[in-house]
Amino acid sequence: MVSPDCLFCRIAAGELPSSQVHADDQVIAFRDIAPKAPVHVLVIPRRHIPSAADLAVDDGPLLSRMVAVAAEVARHEGIADSGYRIVTNVGADAGQSVAHLHLHVLGGRRMTWPPG
Ligand code: 5GP
Ligand code: ZN
Repeated sequence: MVSPDCLFCRIAAGELPSSQVHADDQVIAFRDIAPKAPVHVLVIPRRHIPSAADLAVDDGPLLSRMVAVAAEVARHEGIADSGYRIVTNVGADAGQSVAHLHLHVLGGRRMTWPPG
C-alpha cells in the first residue's frame, strides 16, 4: 500500500516534512514546494496509486473524497468564490513528475486556457 521509494508516500507517512493543510485517514493535502499560483496545494491519497490511470471503479469513494478535500481547501484558502483549477497530470507528455496520484489545486490568479 505504501511504497518506500515514493516521495509522496514518505510525505504522507510523515517521514519527510511538508506544509500540511489537511489530513484524514485516507487523504492528505499540503502546499506545493514550487507553487505555480498564489494558492497551490496538492491533494493525495495515503495509499500509493501511481496516477489517475491506475484508479479502479471501486476507488470512486476515494476519488470523490479527494475532490471534496480540494473544494474544502479552496474554501479555506479563500479562492472558492474567485475560482480555481483542479489538475491531475498523467504520464510524460502531461508533465507528471511524481508517480503518486495527486490533484493540484491552483488559484488566486487568473488561469489561461488551454493549458500549455
Ligand atoms: P506533477 O509534475 O507530477 O504533476 O506534480 C508534482 C508536483 O510536486 C510539482 O508541482 C512539484 O513542485 C511538487 N513537488 C515535488 N517535490 C516536492 C516536495 O518534496 N514537496 C512538495 N511539497 N512538493 C513537491
Ligand atoms: Zn506513493
